[in-house]
Amino acid sequence: MSDSFNSIIVTGAAGFIGSQFVENLLRNATHLGSQKAGLPEKIVVLDKLTYAGSLATLDHALNQAGGAQARANLEFVKGDIADRALVHELVARVKPKAIVNFAAESHVDRSIESAAEFIETNIMGVFSLLDAARRYHESLGSSAEATAFRFVQVSTDEVFGQLGEEGAFTEETPYAPSSPYSASKASGDHLARAWYHTYKLPVIVTNCSNNYGPRQYPEKLIPHMIHCALKNKPLPVYGNGRNVRDWIHVDDHARGVELAMRKGTIGESYCFGGRSERRNLDVVKAICTILDELRPRTTGSYAEQITFVEDRKGHDWRYAIDDTKSEKALGFKRKYDSFEVGLRATVQWYLENQEWVEAVTKEKK
Ligand code: NAD
Repeated sequence: MSDSFNSIIVTGAAGFIGSQFVENLLRNATHLGSQKAGLPEKIVVLDKLTYAGSLATLDHALNQAGGAQARANLEFVKGDIADRALVHELVARVKPKAIVNFAAESHVDRSIESAAEFIETNIMGVFSLLDAARRYHESLGSSAEATAFRFVQVSTDEVFGQLGEEGAFTEETPYAPSSPYSASKASGDHLARAWYHTYKLPVIVTNCSNNYGPRQYPEKLIPHMIHCALKNKPLPVYGNGRNVRDWIHVDDHARGVELAMRKGTIGESYCFGGRSERRNLDVVKAICTILDELRPRTTGSYAEQITFVEDRKGHDWRYAIDDTKSEKALGFKRKYDSFEVGLRATVQWYLENQEWVEAVTKEKK
């Protein structure tokens, strides 16, 4: 990417994956210096701070990335990606070399309860970002900056629908979303692709499997189970617990998105997976085994708290990703090849960061 302009806008970085992306970029900048690391000197975070976003999350990421020096390289803007005037002004002021969109309503169960916010953010919000990016990109004419600019739309493998016992999603798999969440993400991705085809906006789309790791809001499977286990509550498993998900560590996903931003071919999409397919029930049992060792109950095992609850409506059976294209084209390589090692580190992180859990859950609407 060109060095003549040096900021990037990252949306949704007060959430789980966006904060990891920012942490990675800033940590490298702190240790290597921006120039040497070929990194943006400034990151502008745009986040609405919904129930899932928190300054405590961003703050934790900044501490991990080097504290004061990392903070000096970051500007936080509280705002809604669907606020077209705000987004337009921000993009015009920052003149970014990339916009990376992590902002989304991201929880399937909430989308089933009430889809309105998902439509607003995941569809109208993406439109608002694309519209501002297009106007900005056109204003750059045929300059080196225009050539270097990238718009990265971060998406999910859930847009592909569900798999049977065999096979895996690739970049060629047609979209067939089944939940309001995945349908809204698919709509946003289609808009992003349309902006590439119609307006030549340099768009890249990424599709990733289920993420796990530190700083995930405790409504998603892994942190939710840890939270319930420690509070001595039932561990609710949907249906028979046999639905299969592929798990990728958040750091691997964030590094994949960074590679896509730097090396991806415009107009293309890139899949990232963990090559770690597990049945939901097995994930919950594995958490219980780790907790039994690290924080034993006075009697018995945490597994005794497992309860089976009515299945999620329209629950997709299985997801799996073949990310050979990202490995070959981007040089993507997972650091966390063992899900069990990553899961253990994640449980340990939650045990050591109960203050963060308290902070992000207590401020919420
Ligand atoms: P998250 O829910 O933890 O964080 C989302 C962030 O977006 C929060 O900080 C929230 O405040 C912000 N946000 C929501 N609506 C906004 C709006 N209208 N304007 C500005 N900010 C807004 O989500 P996550 O798990 O970090 O997911 C990030 C992205 O990655 C999403 O686009 C999601 O679809 C995608 N993704 C997630 C997973 C996963 O397993 N979590 C897997 C693949 C892809």
